[in-house]
Amino acid sequence: MTIPPGAVVRAIRKLKVIGPDDVEPGLVGVRAQAVAKDGALLDDFAFAETQHAVHVLNAPSPAATASLAIARLVADRLD
Ligand SMILES: Cc1cc2nc3c(=O)[nH]c(=O)nc-3n(C[C@H](O)[C@H](O)[C@H](O)COP(=O)(O)OP(=O)(O)OC[C@H]3O[C@@H](n4cnc5c(N)ncnc54)[C@H](O)[C@@H]3O)c2cc1C
Repeated sequence: MTIPPGAVVRAIRKLKVIGPDDVEPGLVGVRAQAVAKDGALLDDFAFAETQHAVHVLNAPSPAATASLAIARLVADRLD
């Protein structure tokens, strides 16, 4: 998947120092972050429970740092 350089340049044009020649097409990743119903990115961790499962719905940064605490929360809820 690529993003057209024009779209990138339009998005960052406010910086004034970047022009079309400064941007090259390249691969992009997918940002795994939940979006709220109002369209805003959900910045906090989000969990949901069903009868036999705990689902981590949103684990944005600092989820790596908090991974052991998240694991503890999931284990506690499963208990
Ligand atoms: C550039 C960057 C810097 C960051 N810095 C920090 C930081 O300093 N501190 C911090 O706490 N957090 C940081 N984060 C955030 C942190 O990396 C994430 O919050 C955390 O990794 C989320 O964990 P996860 O298990 O939900 O997802 P991930 O760690 O992304 O794990 C998902 C896994 O699922 C695999 N996968 C995806 N699709 C499939 C499929 N179909 N089949 C099988 N496997 C699949 C992926 O390969 C991946 O291994 C950073 C993130 C980025 C992008």
